[in-house]
Order: sequence, then C-alpha cells, then structure tokens
Amino acid sequence: MQDDNKVIILGSGSAGLTAAIYAARAQLKPLVIAGSQRGGQLTTTTDVENFPGFPNGVQGPELMEMMRRQAERFEADFIDEDATAVDFGRRPFRVTVAGGTVSTETVILATGAGTNWLGVPNEQRLIGHGVSSCAPCDAFFFREKEVAVVGGGDSAMEEALVLTKFATRVTIIHRRDQFRASKIMAERALRHGKIHVFWNTTIEDVVGNGSVTGLRLKDLKTGGLRDFKVDGLFVAIGHHPNTELFRGQIELDDQGYVVLKRNTMTSVTGVFAAGDVHDHRYRQAVTAAGWGCMAAMDVEKFLEGHDEAHQEPAAARDGSARRPRKSRTAKPGALGDA
Ligand code: NAP
Repeated sequence: MQDDNKVIILGSGSAGLTAAIYAARAQLKPLVIAGSQRGGQLTTTTDVENFPGFPNGVQGPELMEMMRRQAERFEADFIDEDATAVDFGRRPFRVTVAGGTVSTETVILATGAGTNWLGVPNEQRLIGHGVSSCAPCDAFFFREKEVAVVGGGDSAMEEALVLTKFATRVTIIHRRDQFRASKIMAERALRHGKIHVFWNTTIEDVVGNGSVTGLRLKDLKTGGLRDFKVDGLFVAIGHHPNTELFRGQIELDDQGYVVLKRNTMTSVTGVFAAGDVHDHRYRQAVTAAGWGCMAAMDVEKFLEGHDEAHQEPAAARDGSARRPRKSRTAKPGALGDA
C-alpha cells in the first residue's frame, strides 16, 4: 500500500471510478479505496438502459466492472476494503484502511448514498426482480403492468408520476393519512387518473418467487392483513448519504450530504466530492460519472497550483492537442482558470 499519494478516491461507484480514470490519465496514480462492496449502487441493479453508449442496455455489475478495468488500464490502484477513519485536519490528509494508514495530498469523496429500504423479509432478494428504487431507470420494464410505490414524500410522488407513463395502474402506499410531499407534487399525483392511494397502510412483505407478484399489506387502522397483487414495488422512503466517516471533519448539510463550496471542493481545502454523496437531486449513474470527471479535473488543477515540481505539459499526457497550461502559483484552495 503506497503512502504519500497525490489523490485518494473513497468509493468505487460510477463517480469514484470515473474520477479514477481521469486522475489516472492525468498521471496522478490514484489510490481507490473501493470499499468491501465494490462497484456502488449499480451493482444491485440488473438492466441499465439509460447509460449512454449501450444501445441494448448493460447489466449494472458489468458496467461497473468495465469502468474498473478502464481505470486499472491506466494504473489506478485499488484496495477492496472500507476506509475506517479519515483525518482531514491538516495536509497531507490521512486515511486508515486495511489496518494501515496512508497519506495523501488530496481526497475525492465518492462514497455515494444508499436507498433506505423497508427491511421486510423478501425485499432484498427481489431487488432487480420487481423491487426497485429508481423509476427513471426501471419504469420502462413495467409497461402495461401494475405497480406500487411506497412513501409519501416528493420522491414517491415523482416515482409514481414517472411510472404512469408505462404502467396501467400505480398505487401509492403510505403509512399516514397525508403526504409529506410538497403540495404541488402531491396534487399532481392525486389528480392523476392512473394513481391510487392506500392510506394508513404498511407493507409487511413482498411476495414472489422469481419476481414480484404481490405485497402483504397491513391496514394500520384495523390491523387487518391482506395480499395485494402487483408486478413491481418502487421504494421511495428516502436516501442516506454515506458520510458518517466524515462527520465533524467537513461540512455536511442537515440531511448529512457533503456541502460543496467551490466547484467540487468541500469545506476543507484539498478535499473534493463527487456524485450522490453531495448530489441529492439527480442521483443518476451518468450524472455521478460527470461529477467524478469534474472532481478529478479539479484535483489536477489544484495539485498543479500546489505542486509545481510535478507539473507536466498537458499534451505529453494523452496526446491531445490542448494548449500547454500557464504556470502559476495558486493560494491554497484556489481553483484557478485553465
Ligand atoms: P422524505 O421527504 O423524507 O419522505 C420520505 C417518505 O417516506 C415520508 O413520507 C415517510 O413517511 C416515508 N417513510 C419513511 N420511512 C418509512 C418506512 N420505514 N416505511 C414507510 N414509509 C416510510 O424523502 P424523499 O421523498 O426522498 O425526499 C427527500 C428530499 O428531497 C425532500 O426534501 C424532498 O422535498 C426532496 N425531493 C424533491 C423533489 C422535487 O422537488 N422534485 C423530488 C424528490 C425529492 P412519513 O411522511 O410518515 O414520515
């Protein structure tokens, strides 16, 4: 495990791996702490049909494997374990992983976010087989089918509205008798002819062998249980950013997402963030990849400003016909113009 790194990337979803590809091609020799569940959220999906470049779709795990091989081709290093501690108190920063501690000039936080799942017995087994948390990704598979959405927030409304473009009937299942969602989103959903609501209802289990065939519901007013036939369940009860490790070290918002200060820089100079760890709006594989690219480019510029000895003419790195950069001395935190 190399010490004295120029950049450590925490996370190996599409943000982390894209950052790794760009940082490696900039000859920064990134060390990627990929985590024990390498590959991020896409490894829990099956068909991905909205990632550009794959006209016939691609399996989520396969896409992540290809991104990783692409990063490895440019000599990014990987550790398939979770970082257990970080120290962003002063540079070089320190990251503890695999029982050792490594130092680094910069860090890209790309630890992503996790779906909040219901936690009912058969839910995890049926993810990718009718259970989903992303209507824009998976609604297409429910053409002419009946689906349910659980949750009462804006995400649930949005998921339900997206699903109406494909499904014949969308049932929102909510544990209370009113939505938490903004009025406008709630009204839009309630007015839609294809959307129905089961109020005061919880899901006790997802039913199905190979794929979802129904839900076991509980009426909270009567306590009664019943089975409800559906072909799919979209879970929209919130997300949680994977930022526990950084709490107290960088600024997080009240929901725990990393706050960006300038471009992809966080509140700590030299610590950058990419993807769902800060972005709770778009949360797509392709947008996360875009953030990964941006963070790596920001790191490169940052290091050029601080580390003149390692500067190289841009054209020498990848054969592209970019203008050579002007040499400059940047103040800590300054992300100067190209
Ligand atoms: P949210 O606002 O926290 O809503 C989560 C919903 O899930 C709530 O209705 C909650 O019920 C329900 N819920 C939570 N745990 C549950 C459980 N274990 N079982 C059943 N139901 C459960 O989350 P969100 O909808 O993902 O929104 C997060 C943030 O993003 C919000 O600020 C939202 O406005 C924003 N957002 C905005 C847009 C938009 O503007 N287009 C779209 C999506 C999200 P209770 O109501 O009973 O607590």
